[in-house]
Amino acid sequence: MIDMIIIGAGPAGLSAAVNATARGKTVRVFSSKENFLTKAERVDNHLGFYNISGKELMDKFKEHAKAMDIKVENNKVVNILPLGESFMVNINGEIEEAKKIILAMGISKVKELPGEARLLGAGVSYCATCDGMLYRGKNAVVWDQSHDALEEANFLQSIGVNVTFVSKKPRPENLNNDIEFINGTISEVIGEDKVESIVIGNEIIKTDAVFMLRDAVAPTSLVDGLKTENNFIAVNRYMETNIKGVYAAGDITGKPLQLSKAVSEGLIAAQDAALKIDKIEEN
Ligand SMILES: Cc1cc2nc3c(=O)[nH]c(=O)nc-3n(C[C@H](O)[C@H](O)[C@H](O)COP(=O)(O)OP(=O)(O)OC[C@H]3O[C@@H](n4cnc5c(N)ncnc54)[C@H](O)[C@@H]3O)c2cc1C
Repeated sequence: MIDMIIIGAGPAGLSAAVNATARGKTVRVFSSKENFLTKAERVDNHLGFYNISGKELMDKFKEHAKAMDIKVENNKVVNILPLGESFMVNINGEIEEAKKIILAMGISKVKELPGEARLLGAGVSYCATCDGMLYRGKNAVVWDQSHDALEEANFLQSIGVNVTFVSKKPRPENLNNDIEFINGTISEVIGEDKVESIVIGNEIIKTDAVFMLRDAVAPTSLVDGLKTENNFIAVNRYMETNIKGVYAAGDITGKPLQLSKAVSEGLIAAQDAALKIDKIEEN
């Protein structure tokens, strides 16, 4: 078991990783795509770095982490299951156990569909590798919202799932010929206790499952029961969420959506998590 899993490798996640490592803790850091800061043309308000581009600053953060042997893994965390004193974390199909979790995923741009959260685990899935086998011989829709959706659709078809690929882009050239293609956007997931159909425009399409393959997962879908306030994750001054052992830091906790706040919150979360691990281990 490792000490901490940090989800997100922006300023908050890397600051948490650096501070946890400085406290002698083992960490795994995951990032599913580039973070916000790289888009900033010029940053003037981070102390010590006047007139620097967001990309340059981010490169410096990455260099710092690398110099401390912190590896950022390019992968997406799809589920976190609390187990009392630890957590089972599903990293796109790989399971890792950790003592503490730090959520540093930035602002969530994920708009959940009506029916999605209610039917998560009952036909709604964020991970083809994890849940594909459950739908062998059944119908599944793959919604194209990330660069790996095409690959995942072909994988599902190859293990015997009857796949329909939905995308707002034209049919991709490399999509397996046996896969049905619908040009459109899903607006709703329908079902009582399990997924029965999805809505695309005015059409209702029957299906047993829908794979929502986005680059990110809404934080509230990652951990069941996570408390929010005005669409951000609610935290106390140690950056603890309402779920014991789960911390949040950076833009994900709310305004000001600024780099120095993200860095500071990453530090507070990691130091508190390290302290609590030490306390448990001392007893
Ligand atoms: C154009 C622009 C200009 C800006 N200019 C400034 C400025 O001048 N000064 C300033 O202080 N701030 C500025 N900001 C804001 C600043 O970039 C953010 O406040 C800061 O990046 C927040 O850091 P963060 O670590 O919380 O989130 P982010 O930087 O958004 O990083 C989030 C990380 O989480 C990862 N992630 C998300 N979901 C998952 C998942 N399920 N699994 C694995 N990884 C996941 C993402 O891949 C990413 O690496 C600017 C932002 C923009 C967009």
